[in-house]
Amino acid sequence: FDQRDGEIWFDGVFIPWKDAKVHVLTHGLHYASSVFEGERAYGGEVFKLEEHTERLHMSADVLGFEIPYSAEVINAATKELLRRHNLVDAYIRPVAWRGSEMMGVSAQHNTIHLAIAAWEWPSYFKPEERLKGIRLDMADYRRPDPRTAPYKSKAAGLYMICTLSKHAAERKGYADALMLDWRGQVAEATGANVFFVKDGKLHTPTPDCFLDGITRRTVIGLARARGLEVIERAIMPEELSGFEQCFLTGTAAEVTPVSEIGPHNFQVGEISRVLMEDYTAAVQPKAAPRVAAAG
Ligand code: PMP
Repeated sequence: FDQRDGEIWFDGVFIPWKDAKVHVLTHGLHYASSVFEGERAYGGEVFKLEEHTERLHMSADVLGFEIPYSAEVINAATKELLRRHNLVDAYIRPVAWRGSEMMGVSAQHNTIHLAIAAWEWPSYFKPEERLKGIRLDMADYRRPDPRTAPYKSKAAGLYMICTLSKHAAERKGYADALMLDWRGQVAEATGANVFFVKDGKLHTPTPDCFLDGITRRTVIGLARARGLEVIERAIMPEELSGFEQCFLTGTAAEVTPVSEIGPHNFQVGEISRVLMEDYTAAVQPKAAPRVAAAG
């Protein structure tokens, strides 16, 4: 992924993609002092850019460092990156980390870096494909207690158990894994939040030890706008067999129906379908969509 053409915004300037490198003694690499975002542009416009940038700043704040670029600078850089590279439907990855001046657990004065990369990312799945639903395994790792990890930060360190869980699920032929939390309650997938449907109502775990996704909040709003009741509560794995539908939400996942979690099967029903469509409509740019220039 590091040998592409194009540019990456790195500490305030656009540099060739291939040259956007860090030193091996970077604190962020050794001690996970790194935070990031995952954003998506539709029709040339980043969906909820301001909220993502705000969360990026907040994630850094939770890890005790300040990103030396304002929201205005970051948002303008993101838009400029898309414009310069004629990206219309794209994924955007801002990442901030502590640099390499000091090597040790403590690195109070290390430079804070910020890079923003973006690449073309059309919606992979055709709706018909997605409507089949994906299969989830149950993860062995659990979301940590908030006293163990700063869960409100979209911090690199919190993804160690996500990658382990996703790899384990993939090895068994599943698309992803459902993680429980430290109490044994249903939490989320490895990079997306989870919703269930029963008797026409939505049920989703209270985000008290995992990310309260921007997509999650958007979908809750869309569901309520349709008059659907959304119940945020503790959900136990024993309840899974009683739910009729299940779907994941996330910037990358959008609204993705789930057909199976371990031994439990779900239908891809009307509510999942409607929310998938409502989300697709919601992410469309407010202004006239930008079309890629020819050539
Ligand atoms: N949980 C985890 C662990 C994630 O990585 C993501 C993706 N950022 C989400 C939930 C969903 O968050 P969002 O809707 O803001 O993309």
